[in-house]
Amino acid sequence: MERTKINDLLRRTDFGATVCVKGWVRTRRGSKSVNFIALNDGSTIKNVQVVADVEKFDADMLKLITTGACLSVEGVLVESQGAGQAAEIQATTIEVLGECGSDFPMQKKGQTFEYMRQHAHLRLRTNTFGAVFRIRHNMAMAVHNYFHEHGFFYFHTPLITASDCEGAGQMFQVTTKNLYDLKKGPDGKIDYSDDFFGKTTSLTVSGQLEGELGAMALGAIYTFGPTFRAENSNTPRHLAEFWMIEPEVAFIELADLMDLEEDFIKYCVRWALNNCQDDLEFLNKMVDSTLLERLNSVVSTDFVRLTYTEGIRLLEEAVAQGKKFEFPVYWGCDLASEHERYLVEEHFKKPVIMTDYPKEIKAFYMKLNEDGKTVQGTDVLFPQIGEIIGGSIREADYDKLVEGMGRFGIKPKEMDWYLDTRRFGSCPHGGFGLGFERLILFVTGMQNIRDVIPFPRTPNNCEF
Ligand code: ATP
Ligand code: MN
Repeated sequence: MERTKINDLLRRTDFGATVCVKGWVRTRRGSKSVNFIALNDGSTIKNVQVVADVEKFDADMLKLITTGACLSVEGVLVESQGAGQAAEIQATTIEVLGECGSDFPMQKKGQTFEYMRQHAHLRLRTNTFGAVFRIRHNMAMAVHNYFHEHGFFYFHTPLITASDCEGAGQMFQVTTKNLYDLKKGPDGKIDYSDDFFGKTTSLTVSGQLEGELGAMALGAIYTFGPTFRAENSNTPRHLAEFWMIEPEVAFIELADLMDLEEDFIKYCVRWALNNCQDDLEFLNKMVDSTLLERLNSVVSTDFVRLTYTEGIRLLEEAVAQGKKFEFPVYWGCDLASEHERYLVEEHFKKPVIMTDYPKEIKAFYMKLNEDGKTVQGTDVLFPQIGEIIGGSIREADYDKLVEGMGRFGIKPKEMDWYLDTRRFGSCPHGGFGLGFERLILFVTGMQNIRDVIPFPRTPNNCEF
């Protein structure tokens, strides 16, 4: 008999119909005469209640219906007597597809996220992680829809890259060389000429530079793919492998870029509110009781737009009034997450788009302002998260770009292909990078970035 997904079944009202569902047991309770089994198949946060009259079933089979076991159930769709749910199933046949012993790590309710992280392969079976990963899927759909609707082309940039200018020191090397027997040149340096690609290669830290090539041909592109950073940041907001969305647009100016950032994030959050209601309500109840309020507030408020210089002034004012920060505040400092969160959560109480940073603390490719001191970078700072987007208008002028490279010790010769864009029909352009998991953190109310990606990679942690 054809299986119905629980998400579809719970909407049905053709009571009396014979139905078949398959899924995993969340709980079983009951009396001597009747058992109530809550079954979940992942299609929704909601369980369907299966009612089994004890006398109709084999007692040994019923004993196998434990939390985590997998069942196939056939029965009659009946109107639910209990509150909250429309339909339940009066079982006629139950088959145990997969038994589940009492050593199932996700059996007990109320385990900590820390505990579940140690069983990350099984935590997917819990309500919370089911909700998180259904939302994650929906956010990916939102991203593609947004850009497709706005005339951006999905552009695939390489994961293995030969350019290391952006990520100096935080890249994972890619090699097929025998690390126990490395060929070295006369200068003592490792010779990569016999490596797979005949040179040093790494996993990408960003698709932006290649994305710029796409934008300057297709007009507007976006990338959406995995990104790798070997930064040793053991924080709740950093992963060694994360997904990044990087739109890049020709002929865009700073104000329009900020509009794009704001519009895009609001679209994604609105998408979640419209498409993930059940899961959001669950998370709001179980994980973070201010979640829905925060999501609704973000879609309905204008983000603050603030220059770095103005931001520093506000932070200095706060310090003068007794606010204590761990890291010092002065013009030229790289803002720490505590500074960003002060501005967003305490001072403005809304998202902030900060612009015009000192050139020393931003990447070489950002467009220099006329003051010669600041660049047209734009970071979007969010409550609970801190930086969610980092973007900029790119330096389109060949000479200034080479100068910028010089500041960071990057050899123009190694970036020939990139400089070609400024040599052949250069154009003003810009874009940004949004960390997909940081968006998911915000939308789910989860606290730790390891809990919004199915298989997290962090320093000293690479399971599965
Ligand atoms: P941070 O200062 O938080 O480390 P960053 O300035 O290094 O971020 P960018 O290089 O601008 O970040 O990358 C663009 C976006 O990618 C960031 O705004 C953030 O959302 C996300 N991001 C950066 N590093 C990580 C990471 N290690 N794990 C998850 N997301 C990240
Ligand atoms: Mn970083």
